[in-house]
Amino acid sequence: MALDGAGNTSRLLGQEDVPPVFELNTAGRSPFLFTCDHYGRLLPKALGDLGLPEEELKRHIAWDIGIAEVAEAMSRALDAQLVAQRYSRLVIDCNRPPSVASSIPRLSEATMIPGNEALSREAAETRRQEVFDPYHGRITEIIDQRLRDRRPTILVALHSFTPIYAGVARPWHIGTLYHRDTILPPRLLHALRAEADLVVGNNEPYAVSDETDYTIPVHGEARGLISTGIEIRQDLIADHSGQQEWAERLTRILSEIEPLLGLHLPRMH
Ligand SMILES: [Zn+2]
Repeated sequence: MALDGAGNTSRLLGQEDVPPVFELNTAGRSPFLFTCDHYGRLLPKALGDLGLPEEELKRHIAWDIGIAEVAEAMSRALDAQLVAQRYSRLVIDCNRPPSVASSIPRLSEATMIPGNEALSREAAETRRQEVFDPYHGRITEIIDQRLRDRRPTILVALHSFTPIYAGVARPWHIGTLYHRDTILPPRLLHALRAEADLVVGNNEPYAVSDETDYTIPVHGEARGLISTGIEIRQDLIADHSGQQEWAERLTRILSEIEPLLGLHLPRMH
């Protein structure tokens, strides 16, 4: 198993690597702005396979299974802008403050990540500069532009969660994740609970906090945007039909909620 360059302090992304930021519908007219922190599971060529077998690199520890297709379908259906990050969360987790240990995990669930062990401060900083910073810099830029254009903006961070974590089965089909916003999460919860077939998590399987999250606290709450995270259970969106079904369901629900949020286009003087 190759570990070439895992501790390399030189540039991380080379000519064969794609940029970390993926965008869809950049001119989308919806107030919804979707982010997808765990969209992809690519590894920069210089990191080899992080010392892991292929099976591990396909598991939930590497990315949010199924969410990329759901996010893209929702972006298209709602004419909403999507910004996503293509590299594995094992390279650097784009929904963690870079200062916390789980930013570049040495252990994920029960899997040791050899390529993340004994990482130098410089190598960690390089991952931040070349993956984390461009992604979050782009989200900041998008929000700045939307505020300048006086466009209503609702930040929705899309994620998926593993049905079984550390041997414990999770009953929820979907969860809303939030902390400070009191506008969107209760309406979203109400709408999801009205779906007769769903077990809905209220800040389950996780709650948002400043220590364990980045996108919602930094881009949503700190900027005063209406915001929420949405987590869908991965077995429900593991194939194309499940992804389409969930994208359609959430598109319908978000379309129904939008008029209830009291958004208005600010008057231009
Ligand atoms: Zn996620």
